[in-house]
Amino acid sequence: MTKQRIKQCTICKVDFSTMYRVQYKNPKEWVFVCKECLKDVKKDNPNYTYGGTWKK
Ligand SMILES: [Zn+2]
Repeated sequence: MTKQRIKQCTICKVDFSTMYRVQYKNPKEWVFVCKECLKDVKKDNPNYTYGGTWKK
């Protein structure tokens, strides 16, 4: 069995096959969020930075 890095949404803790790498708060750190949570964090957020889409 290979070691697989599980990427869970930082906010809702659900494991999705497609995750979005973003920064959304201060201090800035890279986190993974799902599509639904992405909508919330990017809205009116000056700290929001998009870092790419990750697929399994
Ligand atoms: Zn989520």
